[in-house]
Amino acid sequence: MTDITPTNGIFELPALPYKALDGVISETTLSFHHGKHLKAYVDNLNKLLPGSGLEGLALTEIVKRSQGGLFNNAGQVLNHAMYFEQFGSANHEPVGRIKELIDKTFGSFNKFKAEFEQKGATLFGSGWVWLSLNADGNLVITQQKNAENPVTDGLRPLLTFDVWEHAYYLDYQNRRADYLAALWQIVDWKVVEARL
Ligand code: MN
Repeated sequence: MTDITPTNGIFELPALPYKALDGVISETTLSFHHGKHLKAYVDNLNKLLPGSGLEGLALTEIVKRSQGGLFNNAGQVLNHAMYFEQFGSANHEPVGRIKELIDKTFGSFNKFKAEFEQKGATLFGSGWVWLSLNADGNLVITQQKNAENPVTDGLRPLLTFDVWEHAYYLDYQNRRADYLAALWQIVDWKVVEARL
């Protein structure tokens, strides 16, 4: 599963391995979303960690054990690290074990996509829609508000779409549903399957 450990107590801005994504997310959006929004969450996390008692822990442990401002910034660093990591120019259809789990739980990839998009479109305000694995080995889709991550509910997060307006407003304005529908074109399912 995706996790990040600090170097000498400091979290670094996760690298972005692309500049734009096939007309689905523009370079302008990425420059603000990664270079400004995520950078601010990383900087705030590093400011809030000293004295918290959670220094030196991996990011998922900080997310599980923190509250308030520290939780919000740690959660947003973890959420965005997973979001940016899961996109790429290949493997846009699930295969192997993740395909089997999707077919078993949702009936088909198309039915899964429809439910995931619907949960993303109907999340009121800022947050994230997630696909996770539960303790029984089944897939679940959840809506999480603000900085929440499914790890705090004992789930193993696999895939996430960011529905904060900053993720899509420059490219799609108010059309959140169009943004959600377009993201399937850039998901790298090998990255998602590696999180199982
Ligand atoms: Mn975001």
